[in-house]
This record gives sequence, C-alpha cells and structure tokens, in this order.
Amino acid sequence: MASSLCFTGGTAILPDRLIPDAVVACSNDKITYVGQSQTRVPKQARIVDVKGGWISPGFVDIHVHGGGGSDFMDGTSEAIQQSCVSHARHGTTTLFPTTTTGSTRQIQAMLDATAEAQKSWSIEMGASIAGVHLYGPFFAKDKVGCHSDEGCRSPSQQEFRPYFKSGIIKIATCAAELPGAPAFYRYASRHHCLVTCGHSNSSWSEMDTAFKCGMRHVDHFWCAMSTVPSIRQRLGVPMQGSMLEYVLGNPDMSTEVIADGMHLSRELLRFAWQMKTATRLCLVTDCNRALDMPPGKYRFGPQSDGSWFTSDGKVGWANPTSLASSVSGMDHMIRTMHQKAGIPLTDVVRMASLTPAERVGMNDAIGSLKAGKQADIVILSPRLKVRQVYIRGQLFQCTKR
Ligand SMILES: [Zn+2]
Ligand SMILES: [Zn+2]
Repeated sequence: MASSLCFTGGTAILPDRLIPDAVVACSNDKITYVGQSQTRVPKQARIVDVKGGWISPGFVDIHVHGGGGSDFMDGTSEAIQQSCVSHARHGTTTLFPTTTTGSTRQIQAMLDATAEAQKSWSIEMGASIAGVHLYGPFFAKDKVGCHSDEGCRSPSQQEFRPYFKSGIIKIATCAAELPGAPAFYRYASRHHCLVTCGHSNSSWSEMDTAFKCGMRHVDHFWCAMSTVPSIRQRLGVPMQGSMLEYVLGNPDMSTEVIADGMHLSRELLRFAWQMKTATRLCLVTDCNRALDMPPGKYRFGPQSDGSWFTSDGKVGWANPTSLASSVSGMDHMIRTMHQKAGIPLTDVVRMASLTPAERVGMNDAIGSLKAGKQADIVILSPRLKVRQVYIRGQLFQCTKR
C-alpha cells in the first residue's frame, strides 16, 4: 500500500495558475498539501523528484470506448481491464466506459462487467472507473456515424429503466428529437447523471425542451450533430438554430472536443475554447480499441458484431471519407491543445480534469491538485509526455502490458 509521497522539482498545474518549484504532498490515497513551501515536506515522505517536469492532476475522460485492442462493449472483465490499463499509460486516472449502439443484452452485459470491475479495482487495473456513460443506443438514425445502425433506436422506459438499476450510469446520452427523449432526460436527471445530447439532428426548440428536462451537455462538438443547413433540410424554412447555436448561446451548456488534431482543426479547437471557456469545455478521447495497437481493421463496439473501421495509426476511418473516433490517449489531446492550438496549459489541463469532474459532480474528490482530493497525479515531461502515473497514491507501472 501507498504511504507518504512528496513530489518536488517541477511545476504544478492548477486550474487557475502554475506553481513553479512546487511541493505536492500525499498521504495514502489523498493529497495533503499543494504549494511552494519546502517546510511542509513531511519527514517520512518518499521524495519524488520530477526533474523539471510538470506535476499535473490525473486526467478524467467522460467519453471513451476502449483501448489496447479491447472495447468496453466486449463486456468481459479482461476487455475492461485492458482498456483501463491502456488509458492509464496515457495519463487518464478516472474514466467513464462508454456504450455504443448494440442489443439490450450487449449493453446490460457491459454494465454488469463494468460494475464488477469497479468494485474490484487495484492499481494493476489501471484507470479507475467512476461510472458508465450510457451513450448508444438512443441515437438519431441520420446521425448514427460509425456506430452500427441496426443497434440504434428510440428510448423506451421498458428498455432503459433496468440499465439504471445498479446506479453505475453517471452520464446519459440521447438524441433530443427522438420520441421518448424528454422522459429519458428526466429519468436520467433524477438519477443524478450528466445528461447529454449526441448523435442528433435536433433543432433549437428541441434542444430547449431537452434543457428543461435536465440536458446540459453535447457530445463531441461538430461531430454527428445538427447544423443550420441540416435542420433546414429536415424542417424547412424559416431556418432554425441547431445544436451548435444552442450550445454557443446557452452559458449553462457544456460540450467536449476530440482534440486529436484529426477530427477538428486547430482553429476549431481554439474557437470552442474561446466561445465556451475552459469551465464549459471538456477534452475527451472518444478513443476506440485501436489505441496502442498497430494500424489495421478493427471492430467499433462489440467484438462479435460491431461495425468495422480502419486505423491508420492516427485516427479511425469508417470509410475513406468519414471518421470513426480517435485512436489516441488523453496525453495526445493535451499536447494538441497546447502545442498546436496554442491554448494555455492551465486551461488545457483543466479541460481534461476539473471541468469533466465538475460536470459529473465529482469535483470534491477528483479533478485538481488540492488538499483533500484523491492522489491522482500525472508527471509529464517538459514536452508533455507521460513519465509517471499515480492513481489513489499508488504508482502505476506504465510499461507493463
Ligand atoms: Zn459519437
Ligand atoms: Zn464515441
């Protein structure tokens, strides 16, 4: 078990500032001190000299499908562990396994296996599971993206109520224009979920109805969502606002970007940050099973019947012109946002840690370097490569597969 640890010799990244020559002290699984004063180094603490690197809070990923060859929808404990281990190597310390479209049986199997893995967490399991993101199957048919479309449908109480029984669902997505969406949103809000709209061709007024039912977030901004032209095609004139205008116009709405540099250009990444600010924009990986795997053909979603995509080592492709989610970990997203989009590191790291933690209501326990919070810490090199990962105060062996 862990004991007292003290990180020194680097710059700590806080949500609002950097602390050069910082001291971050931990006792067992908690952070006990963050600051500059060397006098606060506990006597028996093991000193970890980060040698000029960055001391960052562990990353929190609210939208992630898999990694290391596995998809959470494979629904086995091995698949869950493989995905969590592979994301921990990229600095993610907390994640929300995300469902794809699929059968009721496949979704229930994923929920059961995830709940099991959550209970039996140890450091060898990698990133810790804070809950499930029920993402598929309640998508609009015309915005299904790379998910298999046979598996997508409208929400019915009969189907979704059992999913919520175990309490593991903490984030819940549904397309706002589907029949039954308002009831789904209200049900998910009562179960204290972050309620989100995604894979949707909904209009401003449908978004506004959804908002009144508790919807507060939109999945992967600019991907599989409505635009003014797509709403015009669906509902005619006068032209109406889409999800895009609704999110930009409503300060209580948050969203997320896939910042792998392949889905969105640097100016779009910057634009999203400027419009929503770091308190309402999350970085997600939306990563599939091809993370840390050689280029090739893989299944998106369940290994048995998920749709096929090709990884070129940089991103997934459903066909030569349409993307099929990312193949990168959160460290890559951080580098893209800072080094390519030129966004300050405090904001970039906030969007990958405190902001998602706040949106799911877990910011008292995780999301920043603060006394009293869980000791989830990532040591990054000056060029933002992952050097060491600590989860709940324990060192994760990044190299072991
Ligand atoms: Zn998606
Ligand atoms: Zn996704």
